[in-house]
Amino acid sequence: MLVFMIYDERTARLRWQNAGPIYSGGEGKSHIIDGTDLDELARNIDMRLAKLASRTGGFRLDASFGENLKRTIIKFNEFARNGVDEDFHRREFAYDREWPTFPPTIPEEEWPPQGSKNCTMYPLSEKGPYHAVILAPGTLDTNGGPIIDAQARILDTHGRSIKGLYGAGNCIAAPSANAYWGGGGTIGQAIVFGHIAGRNAAKEPEKSA
Ligand SMILES: Cc1cc2nc3c(=O)[nH]c(=O)nc-3n(C[C@H](O)[C@H](O)[C@H](O)COP(=O)(O)OP(=O)(O)OC[C@H]3O[C@@H](n4cnc5c(N)ncnc54)[C@H](O)[C@@H]3O)c2cc1C
Repeated sequence: MLVFMIYDERTARLRWQNAGPIYSGGEGKSHIIDGTDLDELARNIDMRLAKLASRTGGFRLDASFGENLKRTIIKFNEFARNGVDEDFHRREFAYDREWPTFPPTIPEEEWPPQGSKNCTMYPLSEKGPYHAVILAPGTLDTNGGPIIDAQARILDTHGRSIKGLYGAGNCIAAPSANAYWGGGGTIGQAIVFGHIAGRNAAKEPEKSA
């Protein structure tokens, strides 16, 4: 499945600069697709898809994409101005409001802007340029795998620890199971249980060959 993240110049330069995958200057802009207006952007997205066809099963934009994009933006902008997202209900849950209320990357910019009714939405500019990033599924880390206990010992199918065998990180079943608690939720556990595993492994008696 491919998803197209589309944003305007204000988002690129002011609000979210440096927040991946938005360009932060310097090297590494090749994943960003630009267009002076929405029609050009749609054409350029499709041209990029043509180049990626061998890796996407030949996925291309439907002929209606350009018009649907314009309609979607008109609707989005109306929701943003009214503060009520009738489609996806952004802002209604506490976790919607946690990150968008972070201080802006450019300190002079006030956020949420005065009079804003919804800190998770801001109308896209009526004028280009616009930008797009193709988002595709990738592997973040694992959910399945061997289970460990609090001492980072790997457990067998009966829940008993296997002597001398420790695990941490992506090669074990995540201690948080199918939840992502927040930033660092996987690296944090990998480091903590890796540390515990290392200390315990070091205490094991030396094995003879
Ligand atoms: C794009 C992306 C963004 C992420 N962002 C975050 C984040 O913001 N916060 C967070 O907490 N987590 C994040 N994660 C997840 C986090 O990076 C991983 O969970 C973590 O790095 C796993 O560490 P690890 O040491 O278990 O495995 P890895 O880092 O995968 O290390 C395994 C190592 O083993 C080596 N290896 C593999 N096979 C062999 C072999 N046969 N012999 C010898 N060596 C071998 C590999 O080359 C690799 O170096 C992100 C992951 C991705 C992909």
